[in-house]
Amino acid sequence: MRSHYCGELREREIEKTVTLYGWVDRHRDHGGVIFIDLRDRTGIVQIVSDPQRTPASYATAEQVRNEYVIKVTGKVSQRPEISLNTRIATGAIEIYAENIEILNGVSKQLPFVISTGEGESVREEVRLKYRYLDLRREKMSQNLQLRHGVVKAMRRFLEDQENFIEVETPILTRSTPEGARDYLVPSRVNLGQWYALPQSPQLFKQLLMVSGMDRYYQIARCFRDEDLRADRQPEFTQLDMEMSFLSFNEILALNEALICHIFKTVKNIDIPRPLPRLTYAESMDRYGCDRPDTRFGLELIDVCEIFKDSGFKVFSGAINSGGVVKTICIQGGNDVISNVRIKPGGDLFREAAEAGAKGIAYIRVRENYELDTIGAIKDNLGQEQKQALIEKTGALPGDLLLFGAGDRETVNKSLCRLRLVLGEQLGLIDEDKINLLWITDFPMFEWNADEQRLEALHHPFTAPHPEDVDNLPTARALAYDMVFNGIEIGGGSLRIYQREIQEKVFSTIGLSMEEAYNKFGFLLEAFEYGTPPHGGIAYGLDRLVMLLAKEESIRDVIAFPKTQQASCLLTSAPSSVDAKQLKELQVSSTYKPKLKE
Ligand code: ASP
Repeated sequence: MRSHYCGELREREIEKTVTLYGWVDRHRDHGGVIFIDLRDRTGIVQIVSDPQRTPASYATAEQVRNEYVIKVTGKVSQRPEISLNTRIATGAIEIYAENIEILNGVSKQLPFVISTGEGESVREEVRLKYRYLDLRREKMSQNLQLRHGVVKAMRRFLEDQENFIEVETPILTRSTPEGARDYLVPSRVNLGQWYALPQSPQLFKQLLMVSGMDRYYQIARCFRDEDLRADRQPEFTQLDMEMSFLSFNEILALNEALICHIFKTVKNIDIPRPLPRLTYAESMDRYGCDRPDTRFGLELIDVCEIFKDSGFKVFSGAINSGGVVKTICIQGGNDVISNVRIKPGGDLFREAAEAGAKGIAYIRVRENYELDTIGAIKDNLGQEQKQALIEKTGALPGDLLLFGAGDRETVNKSLCRLRLVLGEQLGLIDEDKINLLWITDFPMFEWNADEQRLEALHHPFTAPHPEDVDNLPTARALAYDMVFNGIEIGGGSLRIYQREIQEKVFSTIGLSMEEAYNKFGFLLEAFEYGTPPHGGIAYGLDRLVMLLAKEESIRDVIAFPKTQQASCLLTSAPSSVDAKQLKELQVSSTYKPKLKE
């Protein structure tokens, strides 16, 4: 029997005989003394074998190679002074192997080196193809264990402290209201009909509230067939929650306690509560987006008042046609940002252009608050405006002001992007900081220009702010997102539980009651039988773990992820299927592969 895991051994085990199982991380033959780093999921420990002290194991020690699976029994000893290794937790000790048993060897050439600290430069495609080997690597193994720790902390908090129960909801179901494309599964028993995989358990969790389950959670798999441009996965995991009888503030407080519990448990970090809250409107004003990274300043400053009557038509024209002019003030920016970078062809210009802006206007604050700028702005900048600009932005000599002018959305988007790029480049972001906050008061609806109609920003079951029910199209929602260092990690809302309001919301998004009943009739009917006030939230588990692990990609915290092309390189899914299977389903493909030229 195993007596210890490799990575757990410390000086307190000295003189004890231990039995370990694991993989050979490294194998070194130092002329008569053989060292083996033995690895399991907890770490590595050094095994020693030499003909004098451990004659029984020496012959086997000579045979082992990297990644062999072995069993070792031996005595824990203090390492001699010169071979202490402070980089590993077990670096003060080593094990003299009385016995080594080879349980299995490696019969093929390893596709990459797995040894601890290596493998970082291996191409991701290769890692994904041999994922089981990739997961042996220390970093990946720790990521999976961290993920487990996060889920465990969630369960402990929700179940043991807050009385939540986990309920599983169906995977074969019908379309849910998250607004992405569905994955569909043909039904063999009901020919011609299709299941949809759930984009979230939204409808079921609300039904569970009608059932009186009161506090529900689930570590739920969700499926959305979206284009995977960003760091997304076709299937991902949410911590999904729904609770009855709690007010807006009570839901936020419970969730803050949950998130703080997770940080404390897995990272031993205390996060002060309550978390700050920003309304959507304020966040858009100050940061240009609804998931602000508040670890640094460079906030957007609205300067419409100053320029609305300006002779500089680019600014006044934008303002007078309903748009805005905003600026960000870069401290000491004159020394570090050249004109070349701001003008067409420059990297900052490109960033702004990619966000839809036509260009960036700029003003440099020189000695004695002289404003240095070019062309039309210069000719139209009066003394009063200069003064007002300096006051409003707080700019000092040496500072650079970058401007966005145009419709509000484009200005916000482009300045937000510049803010993030510059924050990063100028080293303004303290990587150790953890800024968690809530965004509240989202609008209920947004305009869908393609379909020429309003659509629910969150989903159509989100409750409007009670003050705004009489003017639904511009109403604020009782919705909230949790943002972690500029990344949305969770979002949810209070739900509508009164029929009249639900009907109004459907009609606002142009859904007739008949259509609504076709889609969600089972839910609407359920609501007629005594529905408690309720609300919920869902957290993206993959993203949360990625941030806690300080990884760049969610693929690095998912055991078996898919690529950007939504395929699994390990199993080669998706794949074609037998003609017989398709026939049974009475499904055939209209796809014609393009002929190779
Ligand atoms: N179902 C929502 C989502 O997946 C979360 C919620 O409203 O609870 O984003």
